[in-house]
Amino acid sequence: MSLWLSAIAVSRGVAIGAVHRIGGTDLDIPEYRIAAQDVDAEIARYETAAADARAQLQAIREQIPKNAPSEIGAFIETHLLMMDDTTLTEAVAARIREVHCNAEWALKQQSEYLVEVFDQMDDAYLRTRRDDVIHVTARVQRVMLKQERALDTGRASNGPPPVIVADELTPADIILLHQQGVAAFVTEHGGPLSHSAILARSLRIPAIVGMHAARRLLADDETVIIDGEAGHVLAGPDESALAFYRHRQKRDERYRRMLGVLRDEPAISGDGIRVSMLANVELPDDATDAAEVGVEGIGLYRTEFLYMNRADSPSEDEQLAAYRQVLSAVDGPVTIRTLDLGADKTVGRPAKMATNPALGLRAIRLCLKETGMFRIQLRALLRASSEGHLRIMLPMISTIQEMRQARHLIDEVKNELDNEDIAYDRDIKIGAMIEVPAAALAAPMLARYCDFFSLGTNDLIQYTLAIDRIDDEINYLYDPLHPAVLQLIRMTIDAGRAAGISVSMCGEMASDKRYTALLLGLGLTEFSMHPASVLEVKRAVMGADVARLRQRTTEILALSDANAYREGLDALTRELMH
Ligand code: PEP
Ligand code: MG
Repeated sequence: MSLWLSAIAVSRGVAIGAVHRIGGTDLDIPEYRIAAQDVDAEIARYETAAADARAQLQAIREQIPKNAPSEIGAFIETHLLMMDDTTLTEAVAARIREVHCNAEWALKQQSEYLVEVFDQMDDAYLRTRRDDVIHVTARVQRVMLKQERALDTGRASNGPPPVIVADELTPADIILLHQQGVAAFVTEHGGPLSHSAILARSLRIPAIVGMHAARRLLADDETVIIDGEAGHVLAGPDESALAFYRHRQKRDERYRRMLGVLRDEPAISGDGIRVSMLANVELPDDATDAAEVGVEGIGLYRTEFLYMNRADSPSEDEQLAAYRQVLSAVDGPVTIRTLDLGADKTVGRPAKMATNPALGLRAIRLCLKETGMFRIQLRALLRASSEGHLRIMLPMISTIQEMRQARHLIDEVKNELDNEDIAYDRDIKIGAMIEVPAAALAAPMLARYCDFFSLGTNDLIQYTLAIDRIDDEINYLYDPLHPAVLQLIRMTIDAGRAAGISVSMCGEMASDKRYTALLLGLGLTEFSMHPASVLEVKRAVMGADVARLRQRTTEILALSDANAYREGLDALTRELMH
């Protein structure tokens, strides 16, 4: 008998294989007191375990294949850096010394404290760092408790790769398993923004997360089909299901090969509209992946990654080197977003927690308050601008005043550079991310202070619909097709066109080919996305009749009947899905 299960799809693709379950990550941490004279020995025990755990990670780092995506190395580096961070080393030793408790318990307490701090952060990426803390501390605790997790796929030599079913997997686990060969991952916990999900996507391994009872419902060695697009697991499939999905696998493979041919083709629609294909990057090395799929520039470089996992902020020269690296990797414009950190997230521990961090002191608000830090970034950006086509993009703009203040600061930094005889692009373009409804509504006015707009739909949807973008409980409300969202996107595009400035979109919506027809219909001509999506969105563009899509979109958006509106949009989302 077949069993259908559904959860959150995080990495596309179809896999067919036998289940291999991996033991749980739950650890029973003992708590006991130690005598005053044993404190130093307990600290030494902790340090030895931490050194062993570090050695394990270094060994994993050595095994990363040369051609693996840059995120993989970065994940391991993140964990290594975290292990050396004083919030784990000195703070744990201090707890042992203060409370006279065993090292495992001190580490547990410190880990819980850090997880709470990360949970309060308003930036989705930084919040996912809580998982890193949990993974790093679990690794050290396993060494201390001698309960190392067997990460073995159970794959016989030359046998087919299995489908791994686990409670959760760290990025390091994924690397180890990937090297042994796996068909897909199914985990009981996790979300689409977790590092493990990002890693599965970049390794192109189908993955489904949040399938709560997966290890109970699926048995070892039973055959399952994983549909990483729909988020389905089909256990015990019959012959017709197997035939159907085998056919889909073959079709996907042909599709990928066919897309490669488009790399050097310009993205021109069937009726002659030229569309720009740009990439979003998180790390300077990602720019190389972007260049490989033939993008025309970088539409979003998220610089906050430069500031993460370290006790200090990156220096002007360090930032300059990173910006230069991105500029030299791709031809075309490189849009660098200034720091999008949240409340009190500059360095070290937050001084205080904001009640609503997503609505608090984040992004441009923080930069305009902490101008010392902002000026260093602006100096590095301006200096880099003398060496390529660099544009500065300001995140989370909600008022004209913020735009004015930021421009004023940029002018001051330009004067400083003039006085020091340092070159920069005198005509550098400054733009705003439109990710707060207020900015979209005020776009005609805001456009007078901006050289370009970029639609950040991830936040625009979050703020318009009042839903936390990473809260699993209300994930179902996250709707890019909500009429309010589409009106705001349209208003922004129209305001940009009327003011003669360019409008791009760098939110996830731009990288989802289901929305390409709609976005073209709304008048979007600049798409910025993860490099992995570029070719399929380009293909959709090339098959589009933009004039007809505009007409169709205008008609749908004018509908007041909710059913007709949904039906119209559903038809539109299917338009370019070959
Ligand atoms: C967005 O909000 O759409 C965006 C691109 O920025 P981030 O996802 O980094 O918040
Ligand atoms: Mg954003």
